[in-house]
Amino acid sequence: MARTPLVAGNWKMSKTATEGAALARELRERLGSLDRVEVAVCPPFPALPAVGTALRGSGIALGAQDVHWEKEGAFTGAVSAGMLLDLGCRFVILGHSERRQHFGETDAAVQRKVRAALAVRLIPIVCVGETLTERDGGETLAVVARQVRAALEGLTGADLSRLVLAYEPVWAIGTGRTATPAQAQEIHGAIRRLVGQQGDGSATQILYGGSVKAENAAALLRESDIDGALVGGASLVAEQFARIVEAARPG
Ligand code: PEP
Repeated sequence: MARTPLVAGNWKMSKTATEGAALARELRERLGSLDRVEVAVCPPFPALPAVGTALRGSGIALGAQDVHWEKEGAFTGAVSAGMLLDLGCRFVILGHSERRQHFGETDAAVQRKVRAALAVRLIPIVCVGETLTERDGGETLAVVARQVRAALEGLTGADLSRLVLAYEPVWAIGTGRTATPAQAQEIHGAIRRLVGQQGDGSATQILYGGSVKAENAAALLRESDIDGALVGGASLVAEQFARIVEAARPG
């Protein structure tokens, strides 16, 4: 099945609202009209309104980097799915390895967040991936399968096509080391089979993330189960990000 490629930028804790709006305007100018490819940027929470305004009418979607699972209440510092939707978000990154590592985010928490996002029709971009120790220990498939199964637990077939998965080997994030296209395809294929155990996984976009650059994007995106990229560092440079988007656009 032909899936529209998606390129999403994870700005992490970079860019003030002013800086983010400037980057969004530059990106919009460089990308022009978008066809055959979906593009999203995920700024930090305080920059969402300004970036959303800068992107209005451009076709570039807005996403956030986390959400709380409850609708409202006494959760100091947290942000709900409804609040993100109200700001014009279409996507939310969930279970990023930096949140798992630095904020103690568990598979169970990711599962609750996926449901909260889907409940308001936000599209979760669920990140999964193994550490270097896990890869060296031959545990890659087991780790990824555990994370994917937890994230998908209890979801319906319809939910599966309203959700994006991102395979991000932890050892490749921000390190300049990328999985080879063959390494990535092996895991993407396994992820698609896991989704298929629960419903029709043929429409589910599975992104690759981990030191994606303009130089390596095309080779990764040629693989049959790689449906786009989740881009960290290179998404902060409009020219780089635009070249990755170009590489993702089917010829
Ligand atoms: C990420 O943070 O999701 C990521 C893939 O980062 P980078 O592209 O910098 O490795």
